[in-house]
Amino acid sequence: MGVVCMDVKSIISQMTLEEKAALCSGKDFWHLDTPQRLGIESVMVSDGPCGIRKQSDAADHLGLNASVPATSYPTGSCMACSFDRELFRRSGEVLGHACQAENLSVLLGPAINIKRSPLGGRNFEYLSEDPYLTGELAKSYINGVQRQNVGVSVKHFAANSQEYNRMSSDSVVDERTLREIYLSAFETAVKDSKPWTIMCSYNRINGTFAAENKRLLTDILRDEWGFDGYVMSDWGATTADRVKCLEAGMELEMPGKNAANDKQIVDAVNNGTLDIKVLDTAVERILNIVLKYTENKQPETKIDFEADHEEARKIADESMVLLKNDGILPLKRSQKLAFIGKFAETPRFQGGGSSHVNSYKVTSALEAAKGLDVTYAPGYDTNTTESDEALLEEAQEAAKNADVAVVFVGITDAMESEGMDRRTLSMPKNHEALVKAVSEVQKNTVVVVMCGGCITMPWIDDVRGVLYAYLGGEAVGTATLDLLFGDVNPSGKLAETFPRRLEDNPSYLYFFGDEQNKTEYREGVFVGYRYYDKKNMDVLFPFGYGLSYTTFEYSNLTLDKSEMNDTDTLTVSVNVRNTGKVKGKEVVQLYVGMPESHTIRPVKELRGFEKVELEPGEEKTVTFTLAKRAFAYYRTDISDWYVESGDYTIMAAKSSRDIACTATVNVTSTTQIKRVYTMNSTIEEIMESPVGREILGKMMAQNPLAQADADDIGMGEAMARMMAEMPLRALLSFGGDSVPAGAGEMLLKQLNA
Ligand code: BGC
Repeated sequence: MGVVCMDVKSIISQMTLEEKAALCSGKDFWHLDTPQRLGIESVMVSDGPCGIRKQSDAADHLGLNASVPATSYPTGSCMACSFDRELFRRSGEVLGHACQAENLSVLLGPAINIKRSPLGGRNFEYLSEDPYLTGELAKSYINGVQRQNVGVSVKHFAANSQEYNRMSSDSVVDERTLREIYLSAFETAVKDSKPWTIMCSYNRINGTFAAENKRLLTDILRDEWGFDGYVMSDWGATTADRVKCLEAGMELEMPGKNAANDKQIVDAVNNGTLDIKVLDTAVERILNIVLKYTENKQPETKIDFEADHEEARKIADESMVLLKNDGILPLKRSQKLAFIGKFAETPRFQGGGSSHVNSYKVTSALEAAKGLDVTYAPGYDTNTTESDEALLEEAQEAAKNADVAVVFVGITDAMESEGMDRRTLSMPKNHEALVKAVSEVQKNTVVVVMCGGCITMPWIDDVRGVLYAYLGGEAVGTATLDLLFGDVNPSGKLAETFPRRLEDNPSYLYFFGDEQNKTEYREGVFVGYRYYDKKNMDVLFPFGYGLSYTTFEYSNLTLDKSEMNDTDTLTVSVNVRNTGKVKGKEVVQLYVGMPESHTIRPVKELRGFEKVELEPGEEKTVTFTLAKRAFAYYRTDISDWYVESGDYTIMAAKSSRDIACTATVNVTSTTQIKRVYTMNSTIEEIMESPVGREILGKMMAQNPLAQADADDIGMGEAMARMMAEMPLRALLSFGGDSVPAGAGEMLLKQLNA
């Protein structure tokens, strides 16, 4: 990766105070305000994340104005279903390469917020409901982009899982949930792939705006995780107190040029309320990244749009998910097909807002099917959600006259975009009506769904196959046909749970926040499958689910040890065999759970995954390494990750609801947590200590309550529990005269010695 030759400290020593303040906000919407008189050229940043949105003329942050033509890759929600690190690395590399060609220093992505609710307006950009999957894929993407000497901006840091009131809402999240669910993927990205920049989000976190959140931007991001790039604000996320943001660790305000905020910085230094060292550090961090780009840029780089279009197709091939197939798929080219639904002709393949790309070229399914016996009927009008009888009749006619009807439906641009959350999981009425109308007249109906998140499927039993294309990028049509015809065997697995009803989602009751603009993340760590599993709730499609045209069998799950300390690593291997007739890829998932945990925690959590390709009959051994974090939860009383001692179940799985093999390992914690006993400690807690057992045992022998014969009145077990859960102070007071004065204090002294 890029080396910096210029002496940054010497540049800073030549900069005026005004130049330093100016560097801390953009020169315009996309450029940095570098000290050009000192030979530092201005650099540009652009969105991201699934294609380049470089605006050369009128600028905006909502994807409204034109940008240069670029390849539109499948969106994050689609790509994540590949469960493929190598694919993410490769896609990062092609994007980084294109950035070099377009002279962009930083690509604004990946977007890695956790999908708390299926209503999240930007879920199409985000990767998953699972932080491990998100972190692993994000780091591969970052490594790919940055290998091209272009930086990324990992966004939106943090707890920014809704669009409603996105610039002001307060995400109220408890510390454990924050660490385990909402920060974890950022942590992986920062520690393992050293992103050049981070973009802080618009929202508040527990009352403090991300942009002025020192705990987040400095204490955690830099001091704990070792981040050494610069933090930029989301566009317009800087608060009115620019100096506070700077002190918190938010170096670059975007967009620019906010002269008033620059002046705040200058004034604060001049009147002594801002230490110049804080400003110098910010300047140094920004300059380091600017120079890393300018000193290593490759202006001769050219984009091969045709090759990138092919890459977009391959990514879509690996990502789309086959959700239902009763044997109707793959289709045959000799069949007479009806493609029904406007999306067959004008596909929905990307989301709205800042990630919107001016696509180089878009291939529809209809175009990709040229030369085949395919009739087409639009079925609905995308400008309305109301059905049109004439269009429905035409669709039924086309369906009746075909061997198989393929219905292309989904969610429209108007219903799913940055800037607003979805209000329903249902497809528009006219899309649902089309599936119903077609399936009534044609028993061989297959549905292709194009949308960025999940939907409900009241029609699922009426159709024979469902291919979930998500937002499949500009080669969506070709990829859809690759999979429908079995030229490529589907291997995508859902990176999010599809609930049966919106109301089943754990955040449902609180998602849009209250009248004070607070969104309480009351479901805690129980996000996505962590919740549905714990509730043993039926779902439409579970996390990790996806079909193939072949079948796989798992066997011989082996652990290299049956007992270990939490500082050891565990090697897990499992054999996977392709038991079908065609070549295919399987995503082998590894979950870890602790059935007898004393802590409230999910039944299981994803801790490993590998995608393997197998010829028919072929078997491979897939190996995973599990370290401390795979067993740990975040303990707020020690502000650290902690592994409870005991038995853990290791599960090799085809999906979160299809566990193929399990094994058990006993893990011993090496963290000593000193318990402090108080008058409120229970008898049970005290009896866990040898000293406590000895002293309390004697006291109990004289306690009238402990002596009562509860079995006589049928209360044996209840009495035992009451005694066990009784605090020391109560035991003492029930002891009456038999307890000498000061006995409790003495006991505590001995216990806490
Ligand atoms: C979005 C960011 C984006 C920025 C610049 C903001 O509205 O939240 O994701 O990078 O605009 O377009």
